[in-house]
Amino acid sequence: IKKIAKGHTKQAADVKKAAVLGAGIMGGGIAYQSAYKGTPIMMKDIAEEGIQLGLDEASKLLSKQVDRKKLDVRGMADTLNRIRPTLSYGDFGDVDVVVEAVVENPKVKKAVLAETEGQLKEGAILASNTSTISITDLATALKKPEQFCGMHFFNPVHRMPLVEVIRGEKTSDETIATVVSYAQKMGKTPIVVNDCPGFLVNRILFPYFGGFAMLLRDGADFENVDKIMEKFGWPMGPAYLMDVVGIDTGVHAQAVMAEGFPDRMKQDFKTAMDVMYSEERYGQKNDHGFYRYE
Ligand code: NAD
Repeated sequence: IKKIAKGHTKQAADVKKAAVLGAGIMGGGIAYQSAYKGTPIMMKDIAEEGIQLGLDEASKLLSKQVDRKKLDVRGMADTLNRIRPTLSYGDFGDVDVVVEAVVENPKVKKAVLAETEGQLKEGAILASNTSTISITDLATALKKPEQFCGMHFFNPVHRMPLVEVIRGEKTSDETIATVVSYAQKMGKTPIVVNDCPGFLVNRILFPYFGGFAMLLRDGADFENVDKIMEKFGWPMGPAYLMDVVGIDTGVHAQAVMAEGFPDRMKQDFKTAMDVMYSEERYGQKNDHGFYRYE
C-alpha cells in the first residue's frame, strides 16, 4: 500500500491550511486528526450546536492524549487552537484543501460543493468524504472537476488508519498527489482507488449489512448476532457498528449502493434499519439505535 501511495506523491502541493464542511461524527474527527498532526483546519457547519459537538469531541480525544502522557496541556491548547470553528466561508480564501463531510445525499453535497468552490483560491482542492456516492457524479456540479476527488476516512477517524483517495473521471494527478500527501501528513495510510458506488471498502461492507438485514428478517436476535460476530473475531457486531456509523447515514448509503448495483444490492423488503430510520432512531448520535445510550 505504501508503494502505491508513494507513486502518487511526486506532484503534491504542501497543505498548510485545510477546511472541513460538516462538524458531525466525521467532520469533527477529521478536524481533530488534522489539528493533532499539525495542520490548521477550519471546521464549518450550518448549526452552532453541530460546531459545539465537533469541538467537544476534539477536546475529549485530546484529554485522553494528555491522560496517556502523549501530549501536555500546552500541546492540547495548541491543537485546539488549530481547529477554527465557523458558520461562514469568511476565512476560506487561503485554504489548500477542503474536505466535504455533510449528509450522505447527492443533491445536498452537490449544492454545498458548488457553493464552496466559489469561495476558494486558484488551485485549491475540494475532496468529498462520501461513503458511497460516485465522485464523477458529484464532480458534475463543479467548474473545476480536475481539482476534485474523494477522500474517504473511516469511523472513528483518529483510530482507523485507512483513507480511500478516489479518482473521478476528470481528477488530475496533482489533485490525487496532494490529497495522498495530506492523508499521510495526517498519519493515515492512503490507497488510491477508482470511482464506483461504495469504492472498495463499502462494496464489501454493504453486502455484509445486507446479510445482517436478511438474518433479522429470518428471525435472528441482533444482540446474539453481535456477540457471535465478536466471538468470530470482529471488533464489534453489525448492529453495534450500524449504531456507530449512524442509521441515517447507513440507510442513505444503502440507497446509493442499491441504485449503483441493482442486481446485487437491492433489498425488496423493509429492513430493521429502514424502520429505525423512520422512527428517527439514528444510533449513538441521538442515543437510540439498536441499543440505547443514556
Ligand atoms: P453527521 O450526521 O454526523 O454530520 C453531518 C453534519 O453536516 C451535521 O453536523 C450537519 O449540521 C452538517 N451539515 C449539513 N449540511 C451542511 C452544510 N450545507 N454545510 C456545512 N455543514 C452541513 O454525518 P457523518 O456521519 O459525519 O457523515 C458525513 C459524511 O461522511 C457522509 O457523507 C457520510 O456518508 C460520510 N462517512 C460517514 C461515516 C460514518 O461512519 N458515520 C464513515 C465514513 C464516511
